[in-house]
Amino acid sequence: MAKFDSIIIGAGQAGPTLAGKLTQSGRKIAFIERKLFGGTCVNNGCTPTKTLVASAYVAQKARTAADYGVTVQGEVAVDMKAVKARKDKIVADSRDGLEKWLRGMKNCTVFNGTAHFESPTEVRVGDELLTAKEIFINVGGRAVVPGFPGVDQVPHLDNVGILELDTLPRHLIVVGGSYVGLEFAQIFRRFGSEVTVIEKNSRLCHREDEDVSASIKAFLEKEGIAVRLNAECIHLHPNGNDIAAGVNCPDDGSDSIGSHVLLAVGRRPNTDDLGLDRAGVKLDKHGFITVDDQLRTSVPGIWALGDCNGRGAFTHTAYNDFEIVAANLLDNDPRRVTDRIPCYGLYTDPPLGRVGLTEAEVRKSGKPALIGTRPMTRVGRAVEKGETEGFIKVLVDATTKQILGASILGTGGDEAIHCILDTMYARAPYTNIQRAVHIHPTVSELLPTVFGDLKPLT
Ligand SMILES: Cc1cc2nc3c(=O)[nH]c(=O)nc-3n(C[C@H](O)[C@H](O)[C@H](O)COP(=O)(O)OP(=O)(O)OC[C@H]3O[C@@H](n4cnc5c(N)ncnc54)[C@H](O)[C@@H]3O)c2cc1C
Repeated sequence: MAKFDSIIIGAGQAGPTLAGKLTQSGRKIAFIERKLFGGTCVNNGCTPTKTLVASAYVAQKARTAADYGVTVQGEVAVDMKAVKARKDKIVADSRDGLEKWLRGMKNCTVFNGTAHFESPTEVRVGDELLTAKEIFINVGGRAVVPGFPGVDQVPHLDNVGILELDTLPRHLIVVGGSYVGLEFAQIFRRFGSEVTVIEKNSRLCHREDEDVSASIKAFLEKEGIAVRLNAECIHLHPNGNDIAAGVNCPDDGSDSIGSHVLLAVGRRPNTDDLGLDRAGVKLDKHGFITVDDQLRTSVPGIWALGDCNGRGAFTHTAYNDFEIVAANLLDNDPRRVTDRIPCYGLYTDPPLGRVGLTEAEVRKSGKPALIGTRPMTRVGRAVEKGETEGFIKVLVDATTKQILGASILGTGGDEAIHCILDTMYARAPYTNIQRAVHIHPTVSELLPTVFGDLKPLT
């Protein structure tokens, strides 16, 4: 049995940086990764999708070049092989850099294989049995395959498979009108595919406010994406060489017929084949590892970080999990998950930057609140760029003047949201932003104006 001070399982967004900190503290560690270094984000999540979003943006700009007084000769075409090669290179550079760093790390032994717990202090990988007093689980998640009727009768793609395409789908059906599905829907529409989005809820991104959902739907439809909502009875079946996706029960013949189907209906944690029962680590009913506010599992000496603990579903939350664990364990700094302010982006074009509560959540809380809004048509930078879809919305506690939440759906929204986020972390009143002088011309420069023109939320 090989003895270590610590074992880390999974080279996602928390494990590698934790390895760096633990080895710096003098620990001898074992690092286990079963597949691709960098996990979901680097290999089949954030990095490849944002690379494709960039290619899709260029295609769209080329198509609308005349609006800017620029002439593009001939039809705009997308070379999917070249698009994929660009994406693969960016992903490989990131993955390889990370793997090289870990393999070269002093006091870190890398094992390739699937980790299984044998006991609370023992982990098997292949023929090796490793033991340590500290074990950190960073195993991430994977796409859910829903139990729709017919799902096993048709070929279907998930976020991994769709990123391997080097030819253009003639007609892509995206089942799931939320963050992952909508990014792919717009990417492939801009590449030249017909695209249909099927969503069981009554609106896209149903966790967002209704006006946000409506605006997203409007700009996607404007680009020619078909959106089918209220699809409560989704079923799939072969249709010649194509795939039919029905949305109603009983089947009323209004199927969408596509050449490819992407299933983007949620993620599940990779906790089912870890042998966690042998370690006594508790899971919740969805398979997420139960953790406390400092990411300790039910078993002393075992921590869970990233998507597998159900406390976040993003790269920044997984990375923050590393910071919380390292701060508590090594720096005597009691950082906690509940110190974190919820924030994320949706990388359609224009993007959505989100922080804190939605308007619906503020209303539900019953707090006296103030609201400020501004359409992107009244943001100079957006007008100059010819990108005026969307709007800014901010919500403030009327009594304490603390910012409760914001949505910036519009060009630069994913960046501009950070001045609001940082003000919230500083626990400063909104008047700090209102009185700040921002750079002209930016989207952020309008935030003082929006905060200066708040109205009661009635
Ligand atoms: C299409 C898509 C786009 C996304 N875009 C964004 C975005 O723009 N911004 C954002 O913040 N988030 C985004 N996400 C979410 C983000 O990718 C995840 O939240 C993030 O990768 C989670 O990191 P993690 O460290 O928890 O796990 P992962 O990155 O999934 O890493 C887990 C690692 O553990 C390994 N592993 C699993 N089980 C075992 C085992 N038993 N033994 C050994 N190794 C194992 C896996 O092989 C993997 O390498 C996106 C996700 C998808 C699917």
